Amino acid sequence: MTIMKSEILSRSIEDDGLPVTLSEIRQAAVRIAGSVTRTPLVPSATLSQCGGQPVCLKLETDQPVGSFKLRGVMNAILSLGDAARKRGLVTASTGNHGRALAYAAKKLGVPATICMSSLVPANKVEAIRALGADIRIVGASQDDAQEEVERLVKSRGFTQVAPFDDAYVVAGQGTIGLEIVEDMPDLATVLVPLSGGGLAGGVAAAVKALRPQAQVIGISMERGAAMHAAFAAGGPVAIREEETLADSLGGGIGAENRVTFTLCRRLLDGIILLTEDEIAGGIRHAAREEGVTVEGAGAVGIAAILAGKVKLSGLTAVILSGGNIDPAVHRRIVEGAAA
Ligand SMILES: *Cc1c(COP(=O)(O)O)cnc(C)c1O
Repeated sequence: MTIMKSEILSRSIEDDGLPVTLSEIRQAAVRIAGSVTRTPLVPSATLSQCGGQPVCLKLETDQPVGSFKLRGVMNAILSLGDAARKRGLVTASTGNHGRALAYAAKKLGVPATICMSSLVPANKVEAIRALGADIRIVGASQDDAQEEVERLVKSRGFTQVAPFDDAYVVAGQGTIGLEIVEDMPDLATVLVPLSGGGLAGGVAAAVKALRPQAQVIGISMERGAAMHAAFAAGGPVAIREEETLADSLGGGIGAENRVTFTLCRRLLDGIILLTEDEIAGGIRHAAREEGVTVEGAGAVGIAAILAGKVKLSGLTAVILSGGNIDPAVHRRIVEGAAA
């Protein structure tokens, strides 16, 4: 069990100085309303029984690109001026952010370049290629891909749309928190997949502002949990990136992190870490019992409940953040293979 209470004493979100505010998240919701799906929050009988509290699943798997990343991308791009957009967009990605950016860029008729490491699964790279984006595979970590982004910003004048450490991106992800509180006003707990912290930070900023007594818990894999390591060290640290079923949760939080570390440290009530077998169990349960195809990163909330690693205290929302798993890998896991 790896829950770490935030060491910050005062969690009041009345404090000014939080890098993303409720009003920015509300503005994001208006800005992106025509471009993203307002996803359903559906009850799960089996998880409610297992967790001993009513559990609902927030299906971000229903977004057009198969993950929540479209929310942050749309908010960031729609906030850019025309000139910045037309110079071309660039980003580093573990796959889903790049796919969302490629999709949005195609819709808006602007060029996009997506930089990825060799750890990004082939199905994700191919989906991005199919959307017409320029693809660069560089190195074996998110940091390597990010270096290429910075080179392209300097040499080509591209506009960067960062995967998580950007106030507009975080505000876009935070719209999930608005929707959850709207659909479930008596919310007690939100379980949210955690990597760079754009999703968890945005959701926590919305939920804590609207319902301060609710707890927001981040969930990562044991293999390379960057935000967890940063909490322990008191700031961003280099982590070794490894292969994991939760490939969308790979990568560091950035040595110069400006937004998401502060948000997560101040607002999250804890971080839970999962083994690869536990994540596989979450994927399998989602397919067999809930009828939802989720990728590893999207299954961690379910996995944490099944593994008994989280104590639920009332109405619980579990964010299924994405469904872009390689079909062959999915089949093997659902048929019962261990991680
Ligand atoms: C990007 C991603 C996450 C993690 O989001 P962060 O903002 O980096 O913490 C979780 N799940 C899926 C499916 C993702 O694509």
